[in-house]
Amino acid sequence: MTREFTTKSSEETVALGRELAKMLPPPKVVVLRGDLGAGKTTLVKGIAEGFQAASEEDVTSPTFTLIHEYRGPSATVYHIDLYRVDTQRELETLGLDDLMGEDSVLLIEWGEKFARFERERDVEIVLRRLGETERWVEVNSDSRGQASTNDKILEMSQTLEVVCDKCGTKRLVDFEPPPVHGARQVEPEFLPGHCIGDQERPIPGHIIKVR
Ligand code: ADP
Ligand code: MG
Repeated sequence: MTREFTTKSSEETVALGRELAKMLPPPKVVVLRGDLGAGKTTLVKGIAEGFQAASEEDVTSPTFTLIHEYRGPSATVYHIDLYRVDTQRELETLGLDDLMGEDSVLLIEWGEKFARFERERDVEIVLRRLGETERWVEVNSDSRGQASTNDKILEMSQTLEVVCDKCGTKRLVDFEPPPVHGARQVEPEFLPGHCIGDQERPIPGHIIKVR
């Protein structure tokens, strides 16, 4: 489902954020897309207010701090900015998995830089600058999270983290360029269903999940 809005001032964008909060009951992973200055942080001010988690003035850009946390009565809002986060390893050190609780709403600026959030997001909000004070806001909620593991592999466009359910072994897998255009390939030993642990060969009974 897609809904579109235009706002004519930052106050209107904050007000829209307050309304959008009602459409985002936790748990939610929301990716905010748009150029610098598009109004992503401004919208978060409203969303955090909508959850009674922070007042507009309290919400500032986490460009350098990367994560800001605002606790409300029914939800904890995490405002995350991945503009300065470039590698899978840097992303891991943020420990975003630990933030994904039942009452969590993750609002992630520049989340689209990582295939993981393209897969895991519940909602995508796209902001575009139409003029000095006019903004276009598109809210897309779909169910990309339903994709099967194989679909996920095909969707991947960058480094993939795989983890073994049984022993917790994690691997980062880089994709080979596709031999023909279309599907991308993973090295056979990294395919789901096998864990190679520290060994050379797959360990029976260990299943690798794509994250
Ligand atoms: P981003 O997080 O996308 O980089 P910010 O929300 O930090 O963007 O900045 C948006 C800037 O644009 C702010 O200075 C804000 O005052 C200004 N602005 C002007 N009109 C609007 C509008 N309609 N909606 C949101 N921000 C607006
Ligand atoms: Mg911002």
